[in-house]
Amino acid sequence: MKIGVLALQGAFIEHIKMLEGMGVEAIEVRLPEQLAGLDGLIIPGGESTTIGKLAVMYDLMEPLRRFAAEKAVWGTCAGMIFMAQDVGANQPLLGIMDIVVARNAFGRQVESFETGLDVAVFENGQSAPFPAVFIRAPKLVEAKGDAEVIVRLADGTAVAAQQGKWLVTSFHPELTGDDRFHRYFLSLVREVKIDD
Ligand code: GLN
Repeated sequence: MKIGVLALQGAFIEHIKMLEGMGVEAIEVRLPEQLAGLDGLIIPGGESTTIGKLAVMYDLMEPLRRFAAEKAVWGTCAGMIFMAQDVGANQPLLGIMDIVVARNAFGRQVESFETGLDVAVFENGQSAPFPAVFIRAPKLVEAKGDAEVIVRLADGTAVAAQQGKWLVTSFHPELTGDDRFHRYFLSLVREVKIDD
């Protein structure tokens, strides 16, 4: 299995290290041709406006949309914003997921926090809370159509969603030592491969 990590800006190294630690081949993606032969793609956290502008500059927007039409894609934090259809602002977006997202909705950098999440989609026996790191994180305001909220904070705030083979999390699973979210994403990648 070969997983790409969009490496234009942000926390891409951490995703690569996590994947390599799991024995998965991880490829940094900066150019459209680097998408060839990948089984899935992770879009990391960082600054969504910068990621969007660089993706436009490197002619990645259409190739990324074409890739996502066929393969599993996971956006973390800024990556979730970049995959959303509606963020209430004018910035380059892939716009593939039927979700409405509010940027920086938990407050400023100093209000970043870590909390334990109950994640029902993990396999049986993995019910320990998932340590989730939120850094100037977006909120999932709405999941429409085929998009479904899969994780909420204790107060009901939606923080992760799935639409078929596409996954978004408003937090950073690559910054913890816990690889359960990466494993979950790989299970979606595998499902697409089996259907092929
Ligand atoms: N605040 C950033 C944005 O709006 C996202 C932060 C992150 O990815 N940790 O793009």
